Order: sequence, then structure tokens, then C-alpha cells
Amino acid sequence: MNRSWLDALNKEQSDCVQHSPNGPLQILAGPGSGKTKVLTSRIAFLIMHHGLSPSSICAVTFTNKAANEMRARLVKLIGKDRTAQVRMGTFHSICALFLRKHATSVGLDGNFTICDADESKKLISNLLKSHKDFLTSKDISLKEGTVLSMISKAKAKGQGPDDLIPQKLHAAKTAQRTMSPIQDDIQRIVAEIYKCYEKTLRQSNSLDFDDLLVFGVKLFSQHPGLARWCHHVLVDEFQDTNTTQYELMRCIAAANQCVTVVGDPDQSIYGWRSAEIANLAKMRNDFANVSQIFLEQNYRSTGSILAASIAMISQDKSRIPKTLRTTHSLGPRPVLRPFPSEHDEASFIAYEIKRLVAQTGGMLTYGDFVVLLRYNAISRSIESALQKERIPNRILGGHKFFERAEIKDLLAYLQLVDNPQFEPAFSRAINIPSRGIGEKSLAEILSRATKLNISPLAVIERICDSKIPDLKVSVKRKASPFIAIVRTLKKLAAKRTSPADLITHLLKLTDYEDHLKRTQPDWDTRWENVQELINFASETTAGPVSMSDPGASQDSLSGSDNDETPLRLFLQSSMLSSEGDTSNADDNEKVTLATCHAAKGLEWPVVIIPAVEGGTFPFYRTDDIDEERRLLYVACTRAQALLYLTHSSKRKFAGDAKRKDLSEFVSAVLQTDQSLFADNPHHLAPSDRQLIATILGREELLPDQTEVDRRMALFKHENRLSPLYCELVDSASQAIGSHPTPRSESEINGNP
Ligand code: ATP
Ligand code: MG
Repeated sequence: MNRSWLDALNKEQSDCVQHSPNGPLQILAGPGSGKTKVLTSRIAFLIMHHGLSPSSICAVTFTNKAANEMRARLVKLIGKDRTAQVRMGTFHSICALFLRKHATSVGLDGNFTICDADESKKLISNLLKSHKDFLTSKDISLKEGTVLSMISKAKAKGQGPDDLIPQKLHAAKTAQRTMSPIQDDIQRIVAEIYKCYEKTLRQSNSLDFDDLLVFGVKLFSQHPGLARWCHHVLVDEFQDTNTTQYELMRCIAAANQCVTVVGDPDQSIYGWRSAEIANLAKMRNDFANVSQIFLEQNYRSTGSILAASIAMISQDKSRIPKTLRTTHSLGPRPVLRPFPSEHDEASFIAYEIKRLVAQTGGMLTYGDFVVLLRYNAISRSIESALQKERIPNRILGGHKFFERAEIKDLLAYLQLVDNPQFEPAFSRAINIPSRGIGEKSLAEILSRATKLNISPLAVIERICDSKIPDLKVSVKRKASPFIAIVRTLKKLAAKRTSPADLITHLLKLTDYEDHLKRTQPDWDTRWENVQELINFASETTAGPVSMSDPGASQDSLSGSDNDETPLRLFLQSSMLSSEGDTSNADDNEKVTLATCHAAKGLEWPVVIIPAVEGGTFPFYRTDDIDEERRLLYVACTRAQALLYLTHSSKRKFAGDAKRKDLSEFVSAVLQTDQSLFADNPHHLAPSDRQLIATILGREELLPDQTEVDRRMALFKHENRLSPLYCELVDSASQAIGSHPTPRSESEINGNP
């Protein structure tokens, strides 16, 4: 076995990798200490040294993107073939795969559809209607999003509808404080809706995202034989697992009790989605002889970025302190910079990105920058500043590709072909393109479907075949072409036509391009998305989890034929995909905009965090200040070489400009140590460029001074910078803090 990759690890990392394959292990360490690297290396070691079969290893990541990255790292260590056999993915994708195969074992149909949040909201919105009068009489405003989130939290905790009934909550003392009569009312209604929602989902033969986990737990706990293939479970980002995910891990690991988890309590940022940091302690109770190893060496960031980040997280007095040493020298201090308005802040960010590309002689490119946002709306001013300066950018984890209307239109047809019972797909597809079938007729069709206990599609088919005589004649006329399209697609799908070809047929049958042209002003962009969907379909072969057939040799309940159709695999991939999975190669040349949550586990050479203000950090709606501080800590520790925190004294929120102060998380640090931040951008010295090159492993790209001077001259020439901006950046290295803050957008953007 080639051990060179093993030799590159430090002593503690190497101990983790070589730890007994049978002993449960917790690896706890700060950001950038190589937890994910160690997890990947441990998989390789289990296979190459201990001879475990790749298909007996289950590796769980937080996102599909993280799974893809881990897979890419693993290919380098053990090659493509072995990597392909490792069962790797998110908890959701692993559950989806096994549930498809063994659906009947938990009372489901194998052709269930995965219902996304948007579809769930629509179902709940319908169910809320029957409580409308009561809610109005009590002056209670209850939105479908709130109900869905309460149901989702219950599922994450393994609670059913009855567990939400107020009396139960009071008895179980799970209600944090005494509930008011209004809260009791809300709770009761949510419990009722939860019950009906479950019923509707089952009638539609569908599962929402939380159900995948709930039914996954059911499957593996009721049929332990199904997890017998699994010799070792490895979980990344363990601090953010919820109760149901933990249960899943326990069930999958039940046979061999071999588990390795990596995590960092300081980076726990999903409490709002019911993540349970207590799972670390629970694991020590549930598994025998759990070992703990701590990693203390940070390989990701410069010393000064780490120092400022640690100072920030250390404000949380309740946390257990841990050591985190840096491998690298100090480097430029993080920049903390105030602006008079969000526009000034955004223009500064755009110029700084360009300047840094120039000042590193092109060693940094646009793809090396990320702007991390606390919430999506902040991106608007930044996006327009970047566009104005013609800086290419992309949004990671923002508006998801598969949530776009045109994509959902097409998927609705395909979902219907795969599962005629799936009501959300039926309700959407029937009016694409518009057929004038109104809400009333639709409601009538749906209610008949319930009465006759058949799918809404079957109701329409019967109407069109004149087997149901009444219902308006116009409905029959309007629905006939729809039925014809679905029937044609069904025939094609039965012949195992590829999903890409099915979409192409669908586009023709519905004259979809024409529909877009008639109804959408930005039809060309939407049409491009449609083409992208075809690309995605043609690339999708085995779903998002590149796992071999779970019903393979050791699986006692196996033996059923693999009846997965290409269409079903494609639909599953698209429902479980995140934005990161559909990124293109040229994204490497774009500045990334991402939410702080979406940036978890990732790293970038330069990180810029705007709006580091009160109301943003901590977010005004939060009830967990410490989690907000951890979120800022996660954001800062994504940076490898340079970090910027910016804030504005004014920011528009819901149309009103509000006065803003610097975030308390940062001002608390400044009170104890002002020297951790610089308030002006740095003039990068040759030693800074050397440091950046070392951290990024780009020594061969290290520019000479002539190249830097040439690019800087070009930058100043091409950009009509204000004298103030030039002054700000040119003299930054001389006297930090001696320059006035730019007062308006025109002072930064103004003519020279
Ligand atoms: P996070 O908590 O943010 O998820 P992490 O602990 O998982 O961070 P990794 O992403 O595994 O950290 O590693 C951070 C960076 O450090 C990566 O670029 C990785 O390649 C590098 N790294 C880790 N260990 C070593 C090592 N022993 N030698 C060189 N580079 C290393
Ligand atoms: Mg990691």
C-alpha cells in the first residue's frame, strides 16, 4: 500500500486514521484542522489496510456537494472503482435509495415521489383553508411556512401528530414555558394539519424530505437485516445531526457498532432545525468504549484570521475552550471597515476584488472569492455592484435550480408519469401550458379522486373517456390534450426511454418554448435552464448516491429485482440535488455569493462578510445568540488567506433605511483587543504574496514585482476610481486608520 498520503498527516490525524477499525471514535476539532480530510483518509485506510470491502462502508456528509468533494478526494487515494462502491451521500439520499428498494417493508409503494418544500407548502396551504374561520375569529395569523416548519421540527425529533397536542406537550413538559391559550390553539391546529398532511402525502404516494429520514429509521429498525452489509459508518459534521438522523446512524451501525464521527461543537449552526449537539454525549452512552481524539493544528487559515476568529468565539463563556494552533504565519490582519451606506459597501467590495486580483499578479482569480451573507436579501446590492464592474458571479445555495418554475413545470409532468397519485404534480401540470381549468374545477376533480379513491389523473381520464358523464363539458374538452400528452409520455417511459429524451418529447408535446415566449419576458434565460435540465438528465445515471445496489450479497432481505426505471432515478436525483451539484466548470472563474449556512465545511482564499451589524449578526429574529455567534465564526473560518468584515451605518430593510451599529460580536472583541483587525485594506507586500502562494499551494503562480506593477497600473487605468479610493488602498500599508471613511457612493465611484 502506498503510504505517502498517510505520511502527510500529523500525529493526531494519523492516530485517527489508524484507530482500531472496531472501536467507535469521535474526532472533535476546530475548523480547518483536517476533520474531513481525516475522515476520507480513514475510509481509505479501512479499505486498503484492513481489507474492508468498499461496499461495507457508509459515509454520510451534510450536503450532496460535500459528498461529491469527498468522493473526488477518495478517488485520489483508492481509485475510481473502489470509490464508486463506497456507500456515500447525505442521510436523505441514503434513505431514499434503501426505501425505493424496500418500500413495501414499511408500507410504502416503491414509486413514491419526493415532495419538495414548495409542494409541501401548497398542501398545507390547502389544509389551512378549513381552519380559516376559526383563525380569523381568534385573530391568529398562521402561515403555511410556519406550520410546515413546526411539522418538520416534530419529525426531526421523531414526534408524530399526537405528540403536538397541547395536553401531551404539557404532560411531557416539552413546552419550554407555559403556553398561552393562543399558543394552545395554534398547537392544536398544527397537530390536526399534521395528521391530515400525512394522510394526503400517503394518498399521493409521496414522502417529504423529513419523511425520508422518518421512514428510513422505521425501515432499518424494523428490518435490522437490511443494514447487515454495513461494517463501518462515518459521519462528517456530526454536531449538526438531529435526533432522527442520529437514530438512523445507530440503526445502520447496529450490526457492527463501528462508527467514526467528526464534529465541532463551536460550529453547530443548525439548532434552529432541531440539530442536537447532545448527540455527542448520547453516542458515548449508546456505544461501548467510545474513544475521543482532538486535533489542534489548523492548516487552512493564516494566523491573524485564526486569532480574530478565536477571539470572537471565545466570547461565548459557556463553550468548552479548545486549542487551535496555526501552521501558517500571521499574514495580513482581517479588515474591518465601516461604510456610510450599503451601496458604498457594495462598490468597495467590487473594487477590492478587482484590486486583489491585480495585486496578486493574477495568482488570485475571481473564483477565489466568496461573499458570505447572513440572509439572501443582502445579495441584491452586492450583485448589482459586481454586475456594474462586470465581475462574473454565481449564487451557491440561493435560488435553487430545481426550484425554478420552468424546471418544476417539466418535472411535474414526469412525476405524474412516474406516480399518477402525486397530487401536487397533477395540479401543476394540468395547466401547463394554460388550459383554463380553474380552481373550482380542479377542486372538484381532487375531491372526486378522494371520494372514488382513485388518482386525480384517473378521474380526468374517466371524464375524457366519458366514463364519468357529468362535470362540465368544457373540462373534458380542455383536459383531452393533457391526457394525450401524459399517455404518450407513459408509453415512452414504459420503453425505458432516457429521461433526457422524455424531456425533449415533452417540450414538443406541450410546445413549451412557445409557452415560455408567450408568458415570460425572460423566456430566453428560462429556455437555457430547460437545456440545462436536459444536460443534467443525460448526466444522471445512478442517482445522487453512487452506491452499489443495496440489495447486494450480504443483504438478507435482498433478492427482489432492481426495478428502478431511468425516469425514477432521474427524478430522485433532481429532488435530492442542491445547487452545488449543477455547477459548471466555468464557475471556477466566478465570485461566489453564498449564505453562511451553505458555506459550512468549505474554504476560499478570500472571504468577504458584509453587513456585520446588529440585526444581522445576531439575526433580529433569533432566540439563540450563541448560535448566531457560531455562525459568524463558521463564516470567518472559511478564509484561507484574506478576510474582510464590512458594515454600513445605514441599511434598507423592508423598504426603510435603518441606522445600524457594528455587530456586538465584533465590538466585544475590539473592546479587549483592537489590534486583531485592520481598518484599511492592505497593500500586499511580497511576503504576503509568498504566504498566500504557500497556503494555496500556488508557488508556481507567484508573480514577480513587474507583473504586479503592470496589473495594478492596468487596474487603475481601467477603473475610474475616485481619488479617495486610490488613497485608501495606496497608503494603507503606511498608516492604518489615518484615512477618512468614504462618505458616499460618488466618492468611491466618482470620476477621477
Ligand atoms: P471544517 O471544520 O471547516 O469542516 P475540517 O476540519 O474538516 O474543517 P478540512 O477541510 O479537512 O478541515 O481541512 C482544511 C484544509 O487543511 C484542507 O485544505 C486540507 O487539505 C488541509 N489539511 C488538513 N490536514 C492537512 C495536513 N496534514 N497537511 C496539509 N494540509 C492539510
Ligand atoms: Mg470539514
